[in-house]
Amino acid sequence: MTKKTIAANKYNIDNSQISADALYVVEKLQEHGYDAYIVGGGIRDLLLGKQPKDFDIVTRATPEAIRKVFRRNSIIIGRRFKLVHVFFDNVNPNKFVNNRPILERHIIEVSTYRSNKVHKHTLSEHGRIMLDNNYGNQKEDAIRRDFTINALYYDPVAEKIIDYQNGLKDIENRCIKVIGKARTRYIEDPVRMLRAIRLSIKLGLDIDKESLKPIEELKHLLLNESKGRMYEEMLKILLSGYSVECINALIKLNLPHNTFSLLDKVFFKSQPDQLALNILAKTDQRLKETPDVSLVFILSGLLWNNIYNDYMELLTKGDSAMESFYESVATQKEYAYHCGIAKNMFSSISDIWLMQLEFEYPNIKKIDRLLGTPRFRQAWHLYTSRHEIGQVDPKLYQWWSSYMEANDDERITLHEELKRILQIGNKPATKKKRRTRT
Ligand code: ATP
Ligand code: MG
Repeated sequence: MTKKTIAANKYNIDNSQISADALYVVEKLQEHGYDAYIVGGGIRDLLLGKQPKDFDIVTRATPEAIRKVFRRNSIIIGRRFKLVHVFFDNVNPNKFVNNRPILERHIIEVSTYRSNKVHKHTLSEHGRIMLDNNYGNQKEDAIRRDFTINALYYDPVAEKIIDYQNGLKDIENRCIKVIGKARTRYIEDPVRMLRAIRLSIKLGLDIDKESLKPIEELKHLLLNESKGRMYEEMLKILLSGYSVECINALIKLNLPHNTFSLLDKVFFKSQPDQLALNILAKTDQRLKETPDVSLVFILSGLLWNNIYNDYMELLTKGDSAMESFYESVATQKEYAYHCGIAKNMFSSISDIWLMQLEFEYPNIKKIDRLLGTPRFRQAWHLYTSRHEIGQVDPKLYQWWSSYMEANDDERITLHEELKRILQIGNKPATKKKRRTRT
């Protein structure tokens, strides 16, 4: 492939859409005599008229040389392949703690050109690349990338785009095309199949025929991927802003059982989990307005019905609500770890679950304290989602809604009303037997 250099003004790229931190990193590297480009999603999304979610930078400077440029504001990360994180502590004018705006850390990832020259011993028995740590030049870096539209380099100072793989043509045709032979590139890294599907949905692009064809034959290779990598990929789907559409596309593709353990249990069955679907649909909607969504909340919703079904079963065996609930959370813990959820993440998720019990068996003395706990809003959102599928007592739900809106005087009256509701309905949960928090 030949290198093409194109003036960016042909494509209406507006540098004001690029983060000031990313521009600073490019300028600084260039001042020190290195080349530096915005690559991947950053330039691809700008060309498609979308606001990129981040801006990755690539340069010929080695990680050690990059560190010399940014010094204390940078660190080298990664063992398999070293990258540099350049960090900026920016004031967020919209977030305050004790009336002071808070500092937020923004990271720009800078990588050195990589080459895809693979030595035989770095391939696994499935043909997968096991080591990937060769530095290379820009042309080699373009070849090792996954799709032509992801192999564009933008220099925001010279306002020029460099294209080795006809990526600009594919942007114009709104088409995702694997670089090289799709079958070989998927065998090298099966996750590329998932990336093609997620990006096609998120960006509204078609997958080129030749890039689509091998997926059916090779999708089973995803089962060999590590738990961690698949978990990361699942998070990208959940936070893509198009999670419901992505999951529907994956269902249509008939992925092998257990490709994504967690999504499998929730969606890949005859009766998909309506509560989980509603939560994802709301998250997709929210992501159109703000990037500020909580992964803890999303995961608490995806796993909730596992807990709930277990809980209901134990209740029918005659255990107390509290015992049954703690027992179900304990069972879920192993499964969550198996799906790749980290311990501290599970601990926060179980906080949201445990508050469901407090909503269902309110204790007048504890209500005001509950309202002030850090995860209350998220627990309330889960309770609301449960209400929407008819899983909670509507009178009690109504009571909680009124209580949250009420002033102090109204709350006194509402305490009396709660006593009446509880006399008719929910018996208090008995003392808890054991804690399952990690
Ligand atoms: P997103 O909008 O989801 O961030 P992205 O394309 O920027 O999309 P990243 O995971 O941030 O995705 O990757 C940055 C770039 O690295 C990609 O654009 C692509 O050029 C390259 N890349 C990422 N994953 C792979 C892969 N599995 N194989 C080859 N190249 C990849
Ligand atoms: Mg990216």
